[in-house]
Amino acid sequence: MAFPEAFTRRTFGHGVHAPEHKDLTRERPIRRFAFAPRLTVPLSQHIGKPAVPCVRPGQEVGRGEPIALADGFLSVPIHAPVTGVVEAIRLMPSARGPKTGAIVIKTYAADDQQVLYGAPRTIENLAPAELIQAIQDIGLAGQGGAAFPTHAKLAAAREHHVETLIVNGCECEPYQTTDHRLMLEWVDDLIAGIHFALAASGARRAIIGVEDNKPDAIDVLRRRLAADASIAVTAVRTKYPQGSAELLIKVLLKREVPAGGRSYDVGAVVQNIATLVMLGRLLPPGQGLIERVVTITGEGVKQPGNYLVPFGTPLGFVLEQVGFVGDMSRVILGGPMMGTAVSSLDVPVTKATTAIVVLPVQPATASAPRMYPCIRCGRCVAACPMHLNPSQLGLLAAKREYRAMQERFHLDACFECGSCTYVCPAHIPLVQYLRIAKALNREQAA
Ligand code: SF4
Ligand code: SF4
Repeated sequence: MAFPEAFTRRTFGHGVHAPEHKDLTRERPIRRFAFAPRLTVPLSQHIGKPAVPCVRPGQEVGRGEPIALADGFLSVPIHAPVTGVVEAIRLMPSARGPKTGAIVIKTYAADDQQVLYGAPRTIENLAPAELIQAIQDIGLAGQGGAAFPTHAKLAAAREHHVETLIVNGCECEPYQTTDHRLMLEWVDDLIAGIHFALAASGARRAIIGVEDNKPDAIDVLRRRLAADASIAVTAVRTKYPQGSAELLIKVLLKREVPAGGRSYDVGAVVQNIATLVMLGRLLPPGQGLIERVVTITGEGVKQPGNYLVPFGTPLGFVLEQVGFVGDMSRVILGGPMMGTAVSSLDVPVTKATTAIVVLPVQPATASAPRMYPCIRCGRCVAACPMHLNPSQLGLLAAKREYRAMQERFHLDACFECGSCTYVCPAHIPLVQYLRIAKALNREQAA
């Protein structure tokens, strides 16, 4: 007798099972968010060189119009998320802390906010280089949070003759349900986007990996793709951080990306669900990426949901619209495992914003969890999906032996998933230590 599929589903070694908290939003269909009176659109919403403004203060801009141009191949243009007038081009706070250049647009409240710009194309007629250029022109950057320019990733995949496009539908971070809703609601765009990505990268097949806590999405995709031999759907076991590119490749292809290597080295290119949905949606009309679906959630939000939010919308405006509960105000951009707490509510939603999670603030009388010395329990070692020794790395970080961390304990293999911090009974902020060590090593090497 064959085992039921659920028992044979693949997964990786180690990792953690964190409470999901996805029930707050998983049943909430995607809804359009209101336009803020003023949008602050950063010039750097992607990895690579920031875009260069091509508008000036006082100029009127139409929704979808290019307002900043790509500066080289590893860069993407920025388009106006709203019809209005450019008020200023100035430095503004960013999610990572340092101020960055941004274009401030005052919204025309009475405008119907239709998208006014586009360069429609028949995709099938484009040569690979034209297709890559068309993808760069729409300003697409990875929607999974890393914001790597999509055209550059697909061009590198073609150069390395990859055979498989891995579509990352795991969405393993607690609270997040954006990709889940997209797989249910915008499935036509997703399938179109997968075919465009196959054509651009030269890969001959795609595998969509979906965690088995989304059975409805697996079902919808399998039904829709029953007659499409080039795209397979594989359910994988629910475990954090299954959505990391390296682990997903390992699970789906049984191939290991070498330390310091890229997915191309093992014949694969990985794209997130939301990226491919936007590719399928925007490429045929040649429209710029001006908004994205964001999960806005947490026990501190009155109306949690999945919202289509224009880039540049300040977090303060977002929270005003969805409502705070009491004085809960610990705001995290991204999920609670890999996201970052924000220090200013002026920070805007960008191409990299997967989620906004508002967690309860500890009452002033409650003390923050106290940190104890390492008791060598080994839980962090058992949790690390990269088979590192986070405890040892943490001890070296405390002694500022950053080089030894890199040279002898493979610090660079850490992708900052936070599993070690999550399980540590001594409340040692291991991932923060490792993040700092990596940044300092990078700075020294530059
Ligand atoms: S050491 Fe890095 S990769 Fe390993 S669990 Fe900690 S954060 Fe994740
Ligand atoms: S989980 Fe924490 S206490 Fe246990 S070995 Fe790792 S660092 Fe030490």
